[in-house]
Amino acid sequence: MLRKLAPAFLWLSGIWLIGCAPAPTPTPAIKNFDGDYAYRVFVNEQMKLGPRPTGSAANRALADYIAAQLKQFGWTAVTQDLQYRGVPIRNVYGKIAEGRGPLIILGAHFDTRPRADQDAKNPDQPVPGANDGASGVAVLLELARALNASALKNEVWLAFFDAEDNGELNACDLLQKQPCDTTRWAWSVGTEYFAANLTAKPEFVVIVDMIGDADQDIYYEMSSDKPLQEQLWAIAARLGYSQNFIAQFKWNMEDDHTPFLRRGIRAIDIIDFDYPYWHTTQDTADKVSAASLQRVGRVLQTWLEAR
Ligand SMILES: [Zn+2]
Repeated sequence: MLRKLAPAFLWLSGIWLIGCAPAPTPTPAIKNFDGDYAYRVFVNEQMKLGPRPTGSAANRALADYIAAQLKQFGWTAVTQDLQYRGVPIRNVYGKIAEGRGPLIILGAHFDTRPRADQDAKNPDQPVPGANDGASGVAVLLELARALNASALKNEVWLAFFDAEDNGELNACDLLQKQPCDTTRWAWSVGTEYFAANLTAKPEFVVIVDMIGDADQDIYYEMSSDKPLQEQLWAIAARLGYSQNFIAQFKWNMEDDHTPFLRRGIRAIDIIDFDYPYWHTTQDTADKVSAASLQRVGRVLQTWLEAR
């Protein structure tokens, strides 16, 4: 941000040299990504809804909440509806700085897994989804609030995907009623539809998923675009986060970046898969920290505003 101020300062100095008082120019407010706000408001508002599986009333209420927040922060909100095996699915995305430059998409899934199938005790219960769902959404919503649109060099979309987390389950798990289709679902159903229906090819897609763990270890993900990972992890190191953004490969994930990679789009998955509560009933808000959300948010804000 400070580097952005330099040209304006020099310009004003030049005006003074020829003896004219500069006209006052409005200075855009500098807002930094606030991890406390992301946690206190955006994680908690999602958790208040209870589990948010695809097709549920809570899922649709969250889609409405996301769209309302985007509009409040000055973004153009778009909804995208589809049906998959009889279940309604809704993606929501926000656009800003349209036409400014090549498109960058940041994405997160907002649905939560309807069955905690990694939970030894309660595998039929839904996942609360504090980290696996709410953390990524909270980071994107706080970015919607904090990003300085005038500093952006790119058109930016914030995409909130439905139906990421039903892979290997079926419609009976989702609808809890009979009769239902027992065919197993794919992962990233909403994102696949979104990627297949893009009208412009983004320069980059960055997915955030499970990034809120208080014990945060984010490694390079093996299928992701390597130069873009290196760029973002270098920003993290400059911000003092190299303990949490670890510049080594560890996991190879199929996630919401995959539908974009399959279409030749440069995409990365920022994910902390070292999370013992993954797909269990223990994925609750006490496992997520404001500091973890802040690190991810500050890296993304710095990247977008300093380009
Ligand atoms: Zn999941």
